[in-house]
Amino acid sequence: MTQFTGTIYSKLPNVGTSIFAVMTKLANEHKAINLSQGFPDFEVSEELISLVDKYMKKGYNQYAPMQGILPLRQAISHKIKEIYGVNYDAETEINITAGGTQAISSVIEALIKYEDEVIIFEPAYDSYAPVVKLNGGIVKYAELKQPDYHIDWNEVKKMVTARTRMIIINSPHNPSGSVLRKEDMDALAHLTDNTDIIILSDEVYEHLIFDGIPHESVCKYPRLSNRSFIVGSFGKTFHATGWKMGYVFAPENLMAEFRKTHQFIVFSCNTPIQYALADYLANKTHYEGLASFYQQKRDYFVKLLDTSRFEVIPSFGTYFQLLRYSKISDEKDTEFAIRLTKEFGIASIPVSVFYQMKKDHQVLRFCFAKKDKTLEKAAEILCRI
Ligand code: GLN
Repeated sequence: MTQFTGTIYSKLPNVGTSIFAVMTKLANEHKAINLSQGFPDFEVSEELISLVDKYMKKGYNQYAPMQGILPLRQAISHKIKEIYGVNYDAETEINITAGGTQAISSVIEALIKYEDEVIIFEPAYDSYAPVVKLNGGIVKYAELKQPDYHIDWNEVKKMVTARTRMIIINSPHNPSGSVLRKEDMDALAHLTDNTDIIILSDEVYEHLIFDGIPHESVCKYPRLSNRSFIVGSFGKTFHATGWKMGYVFAPENLMAEFRKTHQFIVFSCNTPIQYALADYLANKTHYEGLASFYQQKRDYFVKLLDTSRFEVIPSFGTYFQLLRYSKISDEKDTEFAIRLTKEFGIASIPVSVFYQMKKDHQVLRFCFAKKDKTLEKAAEILCRI
């Protein structure tokens, strides 16, 4: 095809392909063990698959309502009440989305205008900043502090201006595995009281939190919940990242704004899968054991790395483990990650890509949502490096 010969006025001139796509492609090309992009290598439950099959065969194959089917929103409402003790109205305060990333994009698109400022924390999930910029917003970067990737709230306070419209938080945190505590929530409430700041809380890893630490959802804090959008993910909870199903909940007046954009982005999401999820979610044993399941994976992976020269940075949530390699090499993390994939057959994510200034702490992210066998093979390689 002949290329376009006019000037392309790119809206994202400095953005390339997402690191997740890049590393997974490289892993496939080199037949490497892929611990880069976060996805499980084990199967979705048979029961859930049978439910999808059932609803497809029963003819639930046309458009769902724009907000999502009511039974699924009711099941989510019930779950939020059960876990966090808070009421969200299924009709007006919950919406089904095509994954967490779409929920995040649509929230930002609905609320952020030209020159609005949005505070995000680095290392940051790669979609936040580009979407803010696409909507004319200005990203203000706060850095999570070493060695444990915690938030310095005094620093954040100094970044707030009359133009600050949104703060995006993410706990359990991708890529670091750090988690926000009650003190963080109190600090955030103090900071946002009597302001117009909206909070976008990315809680897609809510069930993947370890060592008995409670997940501090912003919905538990009335001073925060009234200004917050909270994003959840069925992909993470039910090992089905390829289904691209998630949800968002917020007070009614914020949700009304969300729906204005959501309806023109995807209109609605996969119908039979929503019916299947509604049935499946009703049984809480389907998600209750998740924290201990993944904690065992984390512990197993870390134990297998006992003799390795990689340094383990404690992970308290998500299915990611950071490893520092400064005792092995002084290469840049991007170069090191590529070399490990090509020469050693193991793919990871270099954490510098999650920083605007590509800050390199010589740390790589590994996904441990894998069969024990995969973790054993991966650890065997890592221990040789
Ligand atoms: N959230 C997943 C990760 O961090 C990947 C999402 C994606 O591939 N866009 O690896």
